[in-house]
Amino acid sequence: MRKTIIAGNWKMYKTVVQAIELANGLKRELFAVASDEIDIVLCPPFTALSEVGEVLVDSNLQLGAQDTFWQDEGAFTGEVSPMMLRDIEVKFVIIGHSERRQYFGETNESVNKKLKAALGAGLVPIVCVGETLKQREGGETFKVLEEQLREGLKGIEEQGIEGVVIAYEPVWAIGTGKTATFQQAQEAQKYIRNLLVKMYNNEVAEKIRIQYGGSVKPENIAELIRQPDIDGALVGGASLTTESFTAIVKKASEVRK
Ligand code: PEP
Repeated sequence: MRKTIIAGNWKMYKTVVQAIELANGLKRELFAVASDEIDIVLCPPFTALSEVGEVLVDSNLQLGAQDTFWQDEGAFTGEVSPMMLRDIEVKFVIIGHSERRQYFGETNESVNKKLKAALGAGLVPIVCVGETLKQREGGETFKVLEEQLREGLKGIEEQGIEGVVIAYEPVWAIGTGKTATFQQAQEAQKYIRNLLVKMYNNEVAEKIRIQYGGSVKPENIAELIRQPDIDGALVGGASLTTESFTAIVKKASEVRK
């Protein structure tokens, strides 16, 4: 069975003091969740990564970043490299989040470069894919997912892909309160896994974890995580309080036991 992974994307929220408080709260509430059963990942903003990392030392919670660049160093004002993330003990990195695609010109090509750099630095990339409402209504969901995955994963060999987590995040469900039904999420994620069979092979596709993201809450995590191709969740809004993120992780871990 694939190990469940629940990641909290804090987006552009939390000052350092607030981030430390949230990380401490989660560490306290989630200490009993077995780390060999579930990966729990916190992705604070860059400014709070180091401090949150210190809070997480010797805990069952892991550190993730929300983005990275593809070069190790250089004259790239404002960017942060995979090597710099490793330097402060970051383990996971979100790549190609729809907000980055929508507002900051992220493309499948830049996702691909970032993915290769992240893998090269030993990070675990969480690669986000998903269709907009217009694309879904136009019957283009699978076409969009195929394009994002074929282009985003271009040149990634079998050994590399096994270390990648994919997050299916329908854009229309992110931050809108509209969750995809578990049937819609399962359908898209099964499609993704079948595509991975074609791009790699059955054995590899069975190993790759696929998260669902889009208005995940304590009320809907259980039915999502029961689906055969949903291996976890990428949580935005509901990861911002100790109560809701704790409830999501605990419910997911109960279902998976
Ligand atoms: C996200 O940020 O990846 C996300 C899914 O946000 P939300 O849970 O708020 O929809």
